[in-house]
Amino acid sequence: MGLEEKLPSGVILTTVEQVLGLARKSSVWPATFGLACCAIEMMATGDPRHDFSRWGMERASGSPRQADLMIVAGRVSQKMAPVLRQIYDQMASPKWVIAMGVCASSGGMFNNYAIVQGVDHIVPVDVYLPGCPPRPEMLLDAILKLHDKIQNTKMGPHRKKEIEELERARLRQLPLLEQPQQVTS
Ligand code: SF4
Repeated sequence: MGLEEKLPSGVILTTVEQVLGLARKSSVWPATFGLACCAIEMMATGDPRHDFSRWGMERASGSPRQADLMIVAGRVSQKMAPVLRQIYDQMASPKWVIAMGVCASSGGMFNNYAIVQGVDHIVPVDVYLPGCPPRPEMLLDAILKLHDKIQNTKMGPHRKKEIEELERARLRQLPLLEQPQQVTS
């Protein structure tokens, strides 16, 4: 016999972490990183037909400091890699990454010296989305899968150290990057 059976009807038991997870997953702000053709499908995911704002993603953030999700849509060139990493580092923590399409996930058909063979060489990836390009419904599915992950991530101020250590451990597994080069016109 569980505690639930002794409670009056209408009473729900939960934990603070569950509530925090629900709040966090319902207010993910993406820093969109459209790099190639996949970006068109990513933009279509925000249109009235698909409408990812139904899940609290009211707007795509132009500033990485007000974003906690990076959707990498398209192939990543070697020159863009340090920039992408710098933007990731500027995002609010805890943060998540979706690699959208085969190019972002593995380099795809661009198996050459100019293209990074998977964005997970630069940033830790939470969800890999196959397809060339993936349809908006597939991106929505990836976002919902990420929501499950966010819901089950331990949160709260007492978890700050734990989350930071987890983040550092994930980043340690990545190859070191060169510093971004100064762009001169
Ligand atoms: S996966 Fe296909 S659609 Fe997406 S960026 Fe690569 S070539 Fe373009």
